[in-house]
Amino acid sequence: MSNELRWNPILGTWVIVSSKRESRPWREEKCPFCPGTPETGYGWDVLVLDNRFPALRPDARTSVESRDIYRVEPGYGYCKVVIESPEHEGDLDTIPIENLRKYLRILGEETAKLCRDKEICYVIPFRNKGELIGVSLTHPHSQIYALPFIPPRINIELRNAREFYKEHNECLFCHILGFEEKEGKRVLYRNKLFTSFLPFFAMWPYEVHIYPRKHVLHLSDLDSGGIEYLADILRVTVSMYNRLFDFSLPYIMIFHQAPCRGNYNYYHLHIEFYPVHRARDKLKYPAGIEWGAWVFTYDDLPENKVAELRYALQKAVEYLRDRGYSPMGRIISWYTYLGGGTLTSRYS
Ligand code: ZN
Ligand code: ZN
Ligand code: FE
Repeated sequence: MSNELRWNPILGTWVIVSSKRESRPWREEKCPFCPGTPETGYGWDVLVLDNRFPALRPDARTSVESRDIYRVEPGYGYCKVVIESPEHEGDLDTIPIENLRKYLRILGEETAKLCRDKEICYVIPFRNKGELIGVSLTHPHSQIYALPFIPPRINIELRNAREFYKEHNECLFCHILGFEEKEGKRVLYRNKLFTSFLPFFAMWPYEVHIYPRKHVLHLSDLDSGGIEYLADILRVTVSMYNRLFDFSLPYIMIFHQAPCRGNYNYYHLHIEFYPVHRARDKLKYPAGIEWGAWVFTYDDLPENKVAELRYALQKAVEYLRDRGYSPMGRIISWYTYLGGGTLTSRYS
């Protein structure tokens, strides 16, 4: 059994290669995340487990040696699974709110813990939901990868944020947030500490980003208030997605935080959602131009998609209230947008 990193000298990126991962189970008879299995036991509400079929592991061995320009390194790292509820069905808008808060605290604690390993450079929690995204287990769960390198997408974000900071002496993310809030056209929901919006430069039709309005770098920097308001906006966002077409919408949710160590004060924690639908019955397939060139095409105006998401948000707020949860923030209504009102006038 081997877990290794193979260097792509043309793209300058690592590929994680593991020999035995293919044999991992695809939809087992009995759910391994439900309480009462040898791994899960009983008496928990949120549970962290080691991935049984990790792509990275601390005792990783390579299958070959480096030779010529082909570099090989052990696939050192950790792959964790976070089970968000003992209930077999659910999403972040239906699990108890206490679970959601605890889940976020755990992601922060795990990040801090994994970063204490000097070999680990970057910790990335994410949630894949839905069979369309290739999720083999439907029990609500997320994953955490602790990587021995900074991933390329993060490197690009870091580089641009550093350049912007050097030029303007301001955080790029704080600036984007300020501008989105001033324009108000793409802002969706806002509570005391967080704002969600569909970015001006969205790549996925219903892509949504969530930024803390305070400049923080890691999940572990959030205090109990930060956790409470992040749980709120995640709950509302996921509920919005599930109301959009009135079915449980598949999505990828990813936490972008600063690397484990080093001075990255110009970076800013944020969450990105990539749903794969472009309409109720149509998917956005990343195909030739997306994969072959890393250029995304967007087949509508993002501002039009905002109107759809705001409508779904109204339904989401009602849905959550009916189930006993009162959202802590407010929708940035389409009336605000149509009336040309800016957020600064309403929310200063
Ligand atoms: Zn289950
Ligand atoms: Zn910032
Ligand atoms: Fe990002």
